[in-house]
Amino acid sequence: MFWTLVKILLFVAVVIGLAMGAGMVMDSGQTVGLRIFDMEFVLGPMQAIIAFVVFLVALWVVLKLISFAFAVLRFMNGDETAIRRFFMRNREKRGLDALLNAMIAQAEGDGKTAIAKAEKAHKLLNRPVMTSLLIAQAAETKGNTDLAIENYKALLDDNRSRFVGVQGLIRAKLSAGDKEKAQALAVKALEMQPAHEVTQNTLLGLQTEAEDWAGARKTLLIKKSSGHLPRDVWRRRDAILALQEADTLAVKGDLVRAREAAIEANRLSPDLIPAAVAAAQALVAQGKGSYAAKAIRKAWKVQPHPELAAAFAAIEKDETPTQRLARFGKLLNMRPADAETRLLKAELLIAAEDFPGARRALGDLYETEPTVRALTIMAAIERGEGSDDAVVRGWLARALTAKRGPQWVCEKCQHVHATWQAICDNCGAFDTLAWRDAPDSAGPSATQTELLPLIVGSLPKPERDADMSEDVVEAQVEESAPPPEKTA
Ligand SMILES: [Zn+2]
Repeated sequence: MFWTLVKILLFVAVVIGLAMGAGMVMDSGQTVGLRIFDMEFVLGPMQAIIAFVVFLVALWVVLKLISFAFAVLRFMNGDETAIRRFFMRNREKRGLDALLNAMIAQAEGDGKTAIAKAEKAHKLLNRPVMTSLLIAQAAETKGNTDLAIENYKALLDDNRSRFVGVQGLIRAKLSAGDKEKAQALAVKALEMQPAHEVTQNTLLGLQTEAEDWAGARKTLLIKKSSGHLPRDVWRRRDAILALQEADTLAVKGDLVRAREAAIEANRLSPDLIPAAVAAAQALVAQGKGSYAAKAIRKAWKVQPHPELAAAFAAIEKDETPTQRLARFGKLLNMRPADAETRLLKAELLIAAEDFPGARRALGDLYETEPTVRALTIMAAIERGEGSDDAVVRGWLARALTAKRGPQWVCEKCQHVHATWQAICDNCGAFDTLAWRDAPDSAGPSATQTELLPLIVGSLPKPERDADMSEDVVEAQVEESAPPPEKTA
């Protein structure tokens, strides 16, 4: 209310002031001289005021025109106008349609269509990560490695997609057979995401294949640390890798480090038979025979095994069969009922020419587990006791068709290996060899040798048989002798 009154009073004062000013200008009779180009105007007082007002209006109009001209210019340039937005929406819709079609084709396994649609989406949509990923996957489905590599590489620039890009590149390099590159990429990928199990397994597989044992042990440790491997499994596998490392070092001639690796393998997994054997050999080479015996006994306690017996025999090279039998006493008493213990004891007694003792040690094993070894031992006992040749040959003939007994069998593909190894020869699996009976190791053979018993019984003593029986018995008796050493 008060403000309104003030405003009215002010307005009245301004009007009075202007009227008085105009009156004074009129009365003064002064003129204003105006010069435009070569023309000269002489304006009266009232005319001058009107001319000034006209000038102000004209200036306002010009300014408005200029801003309008700029607006039109922007429109012509297409800066986020309604028309442009309309076209953009249409483009995005077509892009999303193409994307959907690409995803459907990809799910159907139609790589060719998937690539075509994904490339269309790539052109229409401004989403390079999404569309590159789709093209790369489609290219992978179709088997177009070059296109897959190109698009996976494009994913490396974005933080969100870098890991998936490296993953794709690993697969692409693997399918192209470039294992060296794949391994280098897998190392990088694992640095990005150490807990990624697929990468861990891929890298481990590549490292074991490339015999990079030190690298494989590092990866195995990462795998354990990220909770993807139980502690006991890790220890066993780490022991196997250390053992492989020992072998590689021995081949290179670095015997000192090879022995250390073998002993470490045994420390990690005392019941791993090949590690115990390698460690015993290494310890004997270091002059620590009693430690070697201890390592063998520890493994024997878990599973008696002929290779352990051979390594135990090798601890003392120059001893008589009787001395050897005495030294084996502690080992033989650990698991006396085990078939392996009984076979070993019988063999040691045969070597010491105590044939009745060998017969007692073997017991009824030739009936309960008539393996090649048990039957051959029976032949040796009969021969040592001076039995008739026909009896000896009878045992040997049975041995020819008997089961082989436990062997190193791959649990995955059932392939039988003559010696233990970390990686299956047949299927390439890691740590799958178990000491057990091979499937179908008995039964009709290709050579029909199961007919031999009948022939042997009816024919006069042939030369070949006699020779063979000698060989087999000798080979059997010598089985407990030291084998050629690996690391010593
Ligand atoms: Zn296998």
